[in-house]
Amino acid sequence: MFPEYLESPLATSLVGKAIADAVVEVDVVDLRQFGAGVHRTLDDAPFGGGAGMVMMAEPLAQAVESVEEPGHRVLFAAAGSPLKQEDLDRWAGIEHLVLVCGRYEGVDERFADSMVDEEVSIGDYVLLGGEAAALAVIEGVVRLVPGVLGNPESVVGESYRDGLLEEPQFTRPAEWRGIAVPDVLVSGNHGEIDAWRRRQREERTRSRRPDLWAQSDDESSPTT
Ligand code: SAM
Repeated sequence: MFPEYLESPLATSLVGKAIADAVVEVDVVDLRQFGAGVHRTLDDAPFGGGAGMVMMAEPLAQAVESVEEPGHRVLFAAAGSPLKQEDLDRWAGIEHLVLVCGRYEGVDERFADSMVDEEVSIGDYVLLGGEAAALAVIEGVVRLVPGVLGNPESVVGESYRDGLLEEPQFTRPAEWRGIAVPDVLVSGNHGEIDAWRRRQREERTRSRRPDLWAQSDDESSPTT
């Protein structure tokens, strides 16, 4: 509904560069052109009553059908399945993704049931619309496309790659406002640094994300 919402993020930083360099292509479809009547209406009152309006199925269907390369259709919904890194990994290997952004109280369920492959949520909270979710997915997918990140190694060892969160990071100066970086990181002992990093990843995951920690398989289970 708000194509202008996407303009600046799609022109900024590595996503903007990937688009400018034609490594990826992002086409924004203005839903309003498929609205009903002279007012190009996209919403109507919910059957059964209740507060708020619901996006009608037909304009959404026409918008999705207007896409030249149909591809894999993802609808953003606060009530969708939680988005995971593995979804982004999977989608980065798909040639054409169609990302559908809701507004109002959401979309007519018949559209979701019949024209969408997956419904995903970017977190356990409610936003005004799906555009921020679409931008999150675009960033997450585009950075995985070969050639976008200067150093492809930067995705190795990141949070969520092996069920663990990333360890804390530090850069110069070695002492900042009286706080020194951990001694081990300036020791030059790479074996100890690797072991420290691993312990930090495990401790962080255990304390910040007990849900992830509980799912850790044998490979990422505690070393202590
Ligand atoms: N009534 C809905 C509910 O309670 O689940 C919330 C609708 S929300 C105000 C409007 C639109 O924002 C949704 O259709 C969806 O596209 C988007 N949205 C809101 N929260 C989201 C989230 N956590 N993840 C993905 N999309 C979200």
